[in-house]
Amino acid sequence: AELRQRLGRWRAVRETPPRPETEPVVSTQELAIALAGNELTLYYQPQYELASDRLSGVEALVRWDHPRLGLLGPDSFLPLLTRAQGKRLTRYVLKRALDDAEQWREEGVVLSLSVNVTADDLTSPDLLDMARHAVPDSPQLVVLEITESAAMEDELLGSEVAARLHLGGLEMSVDDFGVGFSSLSRLQVLPISEVKIDRSFVSHLHENPQDSAIVEAVALLGRRLGIRVVAEGIEELRILPLLEHFGCTHVQGFGLSRPVPANAIPALARYQLPIRSRMAASGASLG
Ligand code: C2E
Ligand code: MG
Ligand code: MG
Ligand code: MG
Repeated sequence: AELRQRLGRWRAVRETPPRPETEPVVSTQELAIALAGNELTLYYQPQYELASDRLSGVEALVRWDHPRLGLLGPDSFLPLLTRAQGKRLTRYVLKRALDDAEQWREEGVVLSLSVNVTADDLTSPDLLDMARHAVPDSPQLVVLEITESAAMEDELLGSEVAARLHLGGLEMSVDDFGVGFSSLSRLQVLPISEVKIDRSFVSHLHENPQDSAIVEAVALLGRRLGIRVVAEGIEELRILPLLEHFGCTHVQGFGLSRPVPANAIPALARYQLPIRSRMAASGASLG
């Protein structure tokens, strides 16, 4: 009973969505204008492969370059999107990211490209068709990230998503893994190539035995399933050996690199210092 109580408390903490620091200061109308205009932009956060110590891919993260308020993160405006706007956003992000990747390729840099999508996106055939038509022309792997809880939605599990993704040469990643308490057997229905362990389990790994138990278990599961295991939210150098020991294959976090504008990526790709030196150079070990 005590265990159950502790678990319950723990779950409540995990599942409480982070509260925005301020109330949204933007309106849906303003957002509509931004979507139509040129105010949305993408930043890219590098992902490094532990085995090779190399930059292996980037995750596209949307920003709103607001004329009055400056650069806004997705948490301050994504919740305001209507369903139709959400689809338009994904279409825009996908197109823009593929364009940027093409630019990098012209500079000799080929990286895997991860884009965040919703369950709604994956069940709309037009959007997948668009992705499918765009992707064969580009040499880089395109990974669609969907949160664990979204991956559990019935409409997704019951749909033809698996078949469509396979046909399109797209891969699927389960984001924020560990937060949604999905049943692993349900996850098996989807064609998953990657799990991303949520930052909340990763950032205090070194001081929290429960967190390290979860990371270790997810990494083992990933290894057994033969898929990539990405640890996100690495801020400190000292957790890197632990992640490696547990069998995580890739790492992403402010300690390695913050999200950067598209034109900064080729230089980062050429700057192939081993991860450990990079972390030391970025001062990550100082927290
Ligand atoms: P996510 O997909 O889990 O993306 C990772 C988020 O964690 C990013 O925040 C990133 O900046 C942040 N992060 C990365 N490393 C660290 C770290 O070491 N420490 C800390 N404290 N944070 C770190 P961001 O860019 O604010 O994105 C938040 C969420 O918004 C994303 O979470 C994703 O779910 C959603 N999102 C972002 N871009 C898009 C998009 O184009 N479409 C959709 N549908 N959702 C998006
Ligand atoms: Mg993501
Ligand atoms: Mg995530
Ligand atoms: Mg997240």
